[in-house]
Amino acid sequence: MGLGDQIRRQLAAKALQRQLERVSEEANEPFMPPAAGAAGALSSMQQAERDKLCSFTEMPGYQQVEILRQMSDKLQVASPFFRVHDGVAGATTQIGGTEYLNYANYNYLGFAGDAHVSARAKQAIDRYGTSASASRMVAGERPVQRELEQALAAFYEVDDCVVFVSGHATNVTVIGSLFGPGDLIVHDQLAHNSIVQGAQLSGAKRLSFPHNDWQALDALLARVRNDYRRVLIAIEGLYSMDGDLPDLARFVEIKQRHAAFLMVDEAHSLGVLGERGKGIREHCGLPGDAVDIWMGTLSKTLAGCGGFIAGSQALIDILRHLAPGFLYSVGLAPTLAAASLAALERLIEEPQRVAWLRGRGHQFLDEARRAGLNTGTSAGYAVVPVITGSSLKAAQWANALFEEGINVQPIFYPAVEEKAARLRFFVCSTHEPEQISRTVAALARLAR
Ligand code: PMP
Repeated sequence: MGLGDQIRRQLAAKALQRQLERVSEEANEPFMPPAAGAAGALSSMQQAERDKLCSFTEMPGYQQVEILRQMSDKLQVASPFFRVHDGVAGATTQIGGTEYLNYANYNYLGFAGDAHVSARAKQAIDRYGTSASASRMVAGERPVQRELEQALAAFYEVDDCVVFVSGHATNVTVIGSLFGPGDLIVHDQLAHNSIVQGAQLSGAKRLSFPHNDWQALDALLARVRNDYRRVLIAIEGLYSMDGDLPDLARFVEIKQRHAAFLMVDEAHSLGVLGERGKGIREHCGLPGDAVDIWMGTLSKTLAGCGGFIAGSQALIDILRHLAPGFLYSVGLAPTLAAASLAALERLIEEPQRVAWLRGRGHQFLDEARRAGLNTGTSAGYAVVPVITGSSLKAAQWANALFEEGINVQPIFYPAVEEKAARLRFFVCSTHEPEQISRTVAALARLAR
């Protein structure tokens, strides 16, 4: 592509991005109701204007999707989203009949597709069918659901655990139902969307602190703690956008000093951090009860689908009886519970997989740094971003890598700031060292 073309495309992308920013801002503007009979009131509207109020295409969300589509057309970069994989996606995957090296999933220890894990899931189907069909409280339990919960509670060395049908829904329903008006929820600025959604649903005051900055959190709580009844501090064990981690001991000390609850989302740290994959607490040498609410997903290391909360008996009792996302939702499908239980047992039996993953992650980070790539604050555990500096470059690099047989997801504005647009590499224990070297070499070529 000539320089003129490149500049024209960059300008077109910038114009569309400004449009996207405007639409996103408009979507958040408060609605000011007009006085009765005033222009803008329903009674004084033409039919065409009324129709707009009931049209999905007039919604800001639709306009955002449209602008992203136009960006991809204008820049002539194929959308990297919704690619169809033909088989098990792990270190490699099949897309459209071609094999790709794969960095776009969370199959961290290779348990999704593991023959033993799949066999246990199939046995559960033979025994229980494919669905739990209704809420566990009403329609009853399957032994495998409780076995998984007990195994997770033992893994975290806490009293008990409860599993939900979705990781995202776990955060939403648990945070949303445990806290309410008069309470305060303080979360890391980069906390997952599900934590933010849960905090919004709760009706509690929601504040954020700069990423991993425990000193800022401490100062914030020193200022505002007395204005609220209960306080929840929500952080993650390993941040999936940057691949860095919190200093957990500092957060535990702060939560104790300010009489707050501490919740840690272990979506990306279970099976990844610690010698035996027991997550951030093992990495930091802390006991299970140092944290009040352990949250995790079954969809990543544990090769299933769903979420869990592990903690004290009182916490689990409340959730099992009152959390809407548990009470009014179907029980975890026995086949998924069986898959995650089998994966957890395998993790316990084969801790060497965690060491392999650590080795591969560190290799990726070291080689990328040596090649002069910007890996941000990644600590080299399973998640390594390569920051390209613009959404356009992220899209172009992702497409160029795809042509070389490497599948990786670009992250664009508005998911991150424009200058922090990136490729996000999820490394698995099953990646070969040679595959990682080949990938970094391809990146280095692009950067040049
Ligand atoms: N928490 C974090 C930190 C996550 O990254 C995710 C999903 N990637 C979730 C919760 C939601 O989990 P699930 O995809 O299993 O619903």
